[in-house]
Amino acid sequence: MTTSETSNLSRPQRANKGLRKSEGSKEGISPLTKKYWHQRYRLFSKYDQGIQMDEEGWFSVTPEETAIKHAQRCSDHDLVIDSFSGVGGNAIQFAAKGCHVIAIDIDPVKVELAMNNAKVYGVEEYIDFIVGDFFALAPSLKGDIVFLSPPWGGPSYKDIQTFTLELLKPIDGYTLFQVTQAITPNIIMFLPRNINLKQVPELSWLSSPPLELEVEPNYIQNHLKGVTLYFGSTVAASPRCSTDADDLV
Ligand code: ADP
Repeated sequence: MTTSETSNLSRPQRANKGLRKSEGSKEGISPLTKKYWHQRYRLFSKYDQGIQMDEEGWFSVTPEETAIKHAQRCSDHDLVIDSFSGVGGNAIQFAAKGCHVIAIDIDPVKVELAMNNAKVYGVEEYIDFIVGDFFALAPSLKGDIVFLSPPWGGPSYKDIQTFTLELLKPIDGYTLFQVTQAITPNIIMFLPRNINLKQVPELSWLSSPPLELEVEPNYIQNHLKGVTLYFGSTVAASPRCSTDADDLV
């Protein structure tokens, strides 16, 4: 496991009053994140074994069941780049599946938390952690698969009727995809449940011939939590494409 720029990191914020003492003692918990704390075992089944989060991490970590599905698309020893790795939910599952992972996040606190969480799962030696800007690093990266869970703009994405690719942060989804394609055509992209599915095929058309594409709705206990796009022959195992948003939402 390697990392850069991880020294002198501030600790994640301590929790606050609106919670019972036992709950409030958990790191990263605020009134805003309390509802996510109640789902903690869906985010990390080993939560009680020392998982650490910050407030943003609670909003943005992929539920473990979904991260396991993503990881099932890679094979032993694949090199997977997790471009916006956050507190490590996806990187951990890729590593647990036997892949080697390069986990990148621009926020050094997130990288510290992800390193801790990888240790909880016993997979830290399979992950190289990098503090950095994915867009700056991309031209020098090589990998078999790139996993993208770019910022959705926090929980407010839920208030938007149709989430378009232009709303992804820090740069629109088309530009993100083009930058990523220069690394590999095998791309897994995890997007909000209200993503505009009519735009999705446009991403595969950025290549010639168009990339294989599979669209997977991700349900947790019958609730649609997100949509995963699998591009390229390595990860789009059973290509099927729905462009009708009503199929999912
Ligand atoms: P959301 O909007 O879905 O809540 P976040 O804002 O938490 O998502 O962003 C997801 C992760 O991506 C965060 O951990 C954040 O630090 C990281 N991130 C944001 N921009 C970049 C970037 N340019 N390169 C690498 N990581 C980034």
